[in-house]
Amino acid sequence: MPHEFVPAHAGRIAFFIRGQTPKIQRQWLIARLAERHREGAASLGLLQQLAVISGMSATDYARQHSMLPTLRVAAHEVAPALHGSVDRPEIAKFVGSRLHSEKVHLCRKCVAEDISHWGFSWFRRTHNLAGIEICPVHGDALHLVNNPDPFSLLPQHWIDLGEVECVEHESTSADEVKFQTRLQESYELFLDRDRPFELHSIYVPLAQRVNELGLRNSHIGKKPPLSDHVLSIAPRAWLARHWPKLCQKKPGAFFSSLDRLPLSTVTPGTGFAYVVACATLFHSAEDAALSLATPVARRAAVEKKPMKSQYSPEFWATDFLEVFNNCSGNVTAIAKQLRLDRSYVAKKTKSLGLPSFKGVSSSAKWRALEKFGAGASLVSACADEGVDPRHVEELLRIASSSLLRTVKSVKKDKQPRPLLKVLSNPS
Ligand SMILES: [Zn+2]
Repeated sequence: MPHEFVPAHAGRIAFFIRGQTPKIQRQWLIARLAERHREGAASLGLLQQLAVISGMSATDYARQHSMLPTLRVAAHEVAPALHGSVDRPEIAKFVGSRLHSEKVHLCRKCVAEDISHWGFSWFRRTHNLAGIEICPVHGDALHLVNNPDPFSLLPQHWIDLGEVECVEHESTSADEVKFQTRLQESYELFLDRDRPFELHSIYVPLAQRVNELGLRNSHIGKKPPLSDHVLSIAPRAWLARHWPKLCQKKPGAFFSSLDRLPLSTVTPGTGFAYVVACATLFHSAEDAALSLATPVARRAAVEKKPMKSQYSPEFWATDFLEVFNNCSGNVTAIAKQLRLDRSYVAKKTKSLGLPSFKGVSSSAKWRALEKFGAGASLVSACADEGVDPRHVEELLRIASSSLLRTVKSVKKDKQPRPLLKVLSNPS
């Protein structure tokens, strides 16, 4: 189910098969089930076994159904392996089913909606992120399960048994709700990723932002460190509950788990630290996303040649169209080819005014463009197809013979490709 994470999914499968089942027996049951789907799967980790049972690739499963994207936000390798990748099986095996918060939480309204729609309920990872006490959908305070084995039953059972406790605090203020909403939005940036950030590509934008705000990005110095900034921005009651050690530090003192994030260290921070930094350093999650997605030049010591991803304005104005066409406007494919973050490519494509290929096989606008490309006059091509010439002119402004070639090649494909939706879906 959407956002259901590894141990919760295992628990639900076991519950449907056998009812309430202790953890050890659940694991045995899942291993048997996975082995039935694929020989040898019993020796895999729980995450991979569930991927096998679900018929998904381990990497897709990890991205959508594990806490890995928030547990491994950054990695010090040059090209970090995908979450759940077979290149680093030990990560999926030993970290893939780990939780992000100490207790397991649910939202009573989500549970009620699940029951009325599906007849059962499930635990979501968006309710189980460190520091989050509010449902991102309903804005209600979450409830924690007061049972040592929360995945032996489904959320609705714990509510029925009265084994849940509201995490609402008397001190929860409007400011805190606002702050937690920003945290949630920042978490979304990470949950959406298929692999960790390369350490360099996250610490540089953070260091730039820290500099802009007049903070220091060094162990010592006169300027206040990031940790002081967090202390001045994050609601104190929330900090006292979730980061009591931070509240105890002296002004100006270096607090490694936060203050090393904008430094070129070799040890990445925790997902919780990165999300708190993003929520306090940037005005919004969108600003954070833009900054983190911006490609950064490598230091000469790490890579001698200047980074190609520091693409010049000329590149975006000329050669990029060729890449766009070769990839049929598929943002994921473009991002892969250019070794850039997908959301950055999506925003760049939109800012360049490149068209969506949505409806390329059926819409009158595209048919008129094709007729024009085949030699008809713009007026007659538009009249034939009954479209406003201005709409075709919009395409022509950025079109070229190569764009028309792309239209033809996309149309030839019987299987529809995932097409760019930047114009129809501006978000
Ligand atoms: Zn909810």
